[in-house]
Amino acid sequence: MGRPERWLLRRLALAIVLAPALAAVLAAASAAAAATPATPAAVFAWPAGARVAVSLSYDDALASQLDHALPALAARGLKASFYLTLASPVVAQRLAEWRQAAAQGHELGNHTLFHPCSRAAPGRDWVAPYRDLDRIDVAALRDEILLANTFLQAIDGRTERTFTAPCADRLAAGTPYMPQVAAAFVAAKARAGRGITADASAADPHDVETAAPSGVDGDTLVRLVEEAAAASGGRALVSITFHGIGGDYLDVSRAAHDALLDHLARHPQRYWVAPFVAIMRHVRASAAPAPSAAQSGR
Ligand SMILES: [Zn+2]
Repeated sequence: MGRPERWLLRRLALAIVLAPALAAVLAAASAAAAATPATPAAVFAWPAGARVAVSLSYDDALASQLDHALPALAARGLKASFYLTLASPVVAQRLAEWRQAAAQGHELGNHTLFHPCSRAAPGRDWVAPYRDLDRIDVAALRDEILLANTFLQAIDGRTERTFTAPCADRLAAGTPYMPQVAAAFVAAKARAGRGITADASAADPHDVETAAPSGVDGDTLVRLVEEAAAASGGRALVSITFHGIGGDYLDVSRAAHDALLDHLARHPQRYWVAPFVAIMRHVRASAAPAPSAAQSGR
C-alpha cells in the first residue's frame, strides 16, 4: 500500500469514527433551526415575570389629570401615558407641568391636535361640524397627526410614542386612517372594549383594545385587572383609558382611581405598570424577526 492509499484509509477511518458525532451535531443543529421560528413567542415574558402588563392612560389633556392623577401615580411610583389633545387650552396653560410629567417618566402620547370624531355617531352633537371626522380627508388627518408628533417632541424631546384614536373612530371620510399613520407610532389604542388583550405578543400593536370606564367604583376597576391577571398565561395586557379623575367629564372618582392604584402598587410581582410605549416596545422587541427578515425591512 503506497502513501496515498494509506492517507486515504486514514481519512476514511477518521470519517467513519467521526460520522456519528457529525450526524448528531447536524441533527441538533437542524432541530435548533426548526425550533427557531417558535422561539420568540416561546420565551415571551413581561419584565420580572409579571403576570400581566397594565397600561394606565389618560386622554384629552384634562386639568383633573394634572391635579389628581399625576400626584396619585407619583405617590405610588407608577408610570402612565397621557394622550394630549394639543389644541386643549390645558396644554397651553400648563405646558410646564406636562413637560415635567414626561421628565418624571410618563409618556406624552398623541391624541391629535383637534380631536376630530364622527358627528354621525350617537351622542356626538358636541363634535363641531368643522371637526367632523366623516368630512375630513384621510390625508389631512394624517398631516394633523404627524404634526401633533412634532408638537409633542417639542415638549418632551422624544421621538418614540404611541397614539389613541379620538372617540375610537377609525375612519376619516370613510377611509381607515390607521394604516396611514401606523409607521409613526410604536403602537396605538384604536378600539374600545373590555381592555384585555389575552396575548400581547400575538396582537396587532396598532389595534389594541382599551377600556374607557366612567362613574365606576374602585372594586370594578380592581376586578378588571384581577380578571386579566387570572386569565393571563403571562402574556396578557390590560389597558384602561381614563378621562377626568375627580372632575372634568367621563370621570372616575379619586377614591376609585386610588383604590386601583393601591391594588396595583401592592402587587408588583403580578402587575407590570408602565407607559404604553414601554410595554409595546417590549412586545415588539420580543417578537423581533430573525436578522435576515429584519434586513428585508419588515
Ligand atoms: Zn379623546
